[in-house]
Amino acid sequence: MSFVVAIDGPAGSGKGTVTKKVGEKLGLVNIDTGAMFRCVTLNMIEENVNLEDEAKIEEILNKIEIDMKENGQIFLNGKEVTNRIRENDINKFVSPVSIIPDVRKKLLDLQRKVSQGKKVIMEGRDIGTVVFPNANVKIYLDATPEERAKRRMKQNQENGISSSYEEILESIINRDKKDMTREVAPLKRAEDAIYIDSSNMSIEETVEEIIKIIKNVL
Ligand code: C5P
Repeated sequence: MSFVVAIDGPAGSGKGTVTKKVGEKLGLVNIDTGAMFRCVTLNMIEENVNLEDEAKIEEILNKIEIDMKENGQIFLNGKEVTNRIRENDINKFVSPVSIIPDVRKKLLDLQRKVSQGKKVIMEGRDIGTVVFPNANVKIYLDATPEERAKRRMKQNQENGISSSYEEILESIINRDKKDMTREVAPLKRAEDAIYIDSSNMSIEETVEEIIKIIKNVL
């Protein structure tokens, strides 16, 4: 029997960091679905794919291999791409790529498959609404766009990615808008998701809050 914790929320809400820490503390397998969309996007950029070329997209999706290691490293078709998929070109193209029906279908299948029979904590945009509408725990993690841009900036600096605050804020706002208004699997709070505004909370406080919620149903 699977046990699923679904964490949804906008770009830079802290989902990634928090999900990883909660997963480690509770022994849950951590699945970053955004990284999967980022890998597909990188693959398309590398292969120079036109987003309307359905046949080529299908060809890519049929042979794509995404390997997410327990230590956080991500491999796309055998090559390490952990930092590459966080760069600006990917931030820009990932939302248009994520509305392609074949891409969503492929990743939906993959997300369900990797969770089978496991205890997982999965973060994304549509986990509590589409991927696992019957998840055991659903959380919608939010924060103001300004706070989220500040966090992303710090994270980028730590990873050696250069970008200005204004650039990040604009990219976050654009991406949220695209993710929230798309027709298929838009980012929205599931009716039964617990809402957490982490704007004024530290990572540790957010982690503790989520652990408390999960322990209530474990
Ligand atoms: O979480 P992250 O910022 O890495 O996600 C990158 C992008 O992937 C999002 O902006 C969104 O367009 C897409 N995505 C999605 N559904 C998910 C996770 C991510 O459409 N479950």
